[in-house]
Formats: sequence, structure tokens, C-alpha cells
Amino acid sequence: MKNITTQCMDELGRIILPQKQRSALNWDVGDCLTAFTNAENSTITICRSHTITELSIDMLGRITLQKHRREELGWNTGEFLDLVLDVRGGTITLSPARKHNGVRCVFCNSSDIALLKNSLGICNSCVTDVTMACTGAGRVQLAPVSTERL
Ligand SMILES: [Zn+2]
Repeated sequence: MKNITTQCMDELGRIILPQKQRSALNWDVGDCLTAFTNAENSTITICRSHTITELSIDMLGRITLQKHRREELGWNTGEFLDLVLDVRGGTITLSPARKHNGVRCVFCNSSDIALLKNSLGICNSCVTDVTMACTGAGRVQLAPVSTERL
């Protein structure tokens, strides 16, 4: 079974390698990785490296795709990429995501989608609101969850 997630590359070319995929490969924060560009099918394959320190996983589980690699494939920052996990091969392969045309934020209807889950989108601004609310730092408060049965 294929494990695919979709992530948005941020303005610095960083992309999150999801925890699930990383733990399936036994990759941890600080681990060194290398990348192979396949221009023919517009993919970048990431694998573990013990000799080349090209990419390293930062504290937030992200790697930075170098500019030359992105330019080679014509990938812009802010673009969505599909991350396909291959446990046997020990790789994660990135490719341009299936288009999310028409996907709107479930909260505010914005088309500036930052996160997709189960084909539902959440925009950048709402992701920030939710994150901040969860940490107690935001302007939006989380409503108390009722434990009563409806
Ligand atoms: Zn929104």
C-alpha cells in the first residue's frame, strides 16, 4: 500500500517530512539525507546518506529543497508536493501534487490552501489560528469541549 501525503513547500523551499513517514523509515531530527533529481518525471527522491550531508532534518521535521533543485524542475515555493513513502527502498519521493483546483478552506473559504487532509483544505491563516489557539497564544479561543452526550 502506498503512503502518500501532500505538503506545501514554504517560502524558503522547506517541506515537512511527516512524522509517520519519517518513523516508517527510522529517520530522525538531525539525520543526514541526500536527494536525487529525476528531471524526466519531475521528481526528487530523498534517501538516507552516511557519506553526503546534503539535507538534514530540522527540529520541525523539515528539509530544505535547494534552489538549484527546485529551479531544475520548475518548482516554485508555495507549491504543493506529494510525498510518496517507499519503506522497502528507504525513500520518500516528491512530485508536484495533483492539482487542488477548487479546494477551499473549510473554515473561511479562502483558496490559499496550506494543508489538505482527507480532501479538505485549510488555509494558511486558519492553520495559524488553530495552531495558536492550541498553544493558548492566539486571538481565537478554543471552545470548551462538552463531555455530555448530545
Ligand atoms: Zn481559512
